[in-house]
Amino acid sequence: MRFRWSRPIPHAAKSYRVTRDRAGRWHVAFAAIPAPIPKPGSGEAVGVDRGVAVAAALSTGDLLTVPGLREAERARLGRLLRRLARTRPGSRRRAQIKAAIARLKARETDRRKDWIEKTSTNLARRFDVIAVEDLNIAGMTRSARGTVEAPGRKMAQKAGLNRGILAAGWGALVARLEDKAPGRVIKIDPRNTSRTCNACRHVAGESRESQAVFLCVACGFRVNADVNAACNIRDTAAGHAVAARGGPPLGGPANREPQHDLPLTG
Ligand SMILES: [Zn+2]
Repeated sequence: MRFRWSRPIPHAAKSYRVTRDRAGRWHVAFAAIPAPIPKPGSGEAVGVDRGVAVAAALSTGDLLTVPGLREAERARLGRLLRRLARTRPGSRRRAQIKAAIARLKARETDRRKDWIEKTSTNLARRFDVIAVEDLNIAGMTRSARGTVEAPGRKMAQKAGLNRGILAAGWGALVARLEDKAPGRVIKIDPRNTSRTCNACRHVAGESRESQAVFLCVACGFRVNADVNAACNIRDTAAGHAVAARGGPPLGGPANREPQHDLPLTG
């Protein structure tokens, strides 16, 4: 059988697996544990928040989006799904349309996986410590914020599906971060991260002016809501590290300038 090398075989590969995906493509995957990415040594920590409007917001102000299907591809998927509904079960036409739908979905999955690999490598290279919310706790506490919901409840089914895809991507991103930066990923309790002002520490649900904007009712600090949460996640992780060392808190809100110039979206 003819095949294409997409990358060289890793040195420590001891086994391989042959798979066929939904789009009918065959893959040969060699299992090897890659060496961890060395930390930059800058002492810098980053908070990563699973966003609502974006896939992830960083405490640096960066807003990351997962590349999905393009507008034209999405429209084509819609047409294919409508045509599929008009085909007879078991017909050749139906099988053809199903295959075309599977190819489009596989493209979307490929792009998401590629994004996860690039993003996790980038974060592991740039920061010594990567702080994320603990997913097990997040699932219970974040529903009020609208990031984790039972699909189809209180929202259009499509939106529920998209959220499910984002959630799946998030779990995979954290898993890859732990592979690439072992011992450098800190998981924190996300409670109040979206309701706490990163400038003055005031906690109030009313500070969420909208899904996208955080406007502190106490000090007037205005910032992208996901970035505010990411900064709180970073600071909570820094607090944990300090507590473990037994020293005084470093870089807390009192001795750090509020970052009023962070970007706003939506
Ligand atoms: Zn404030």
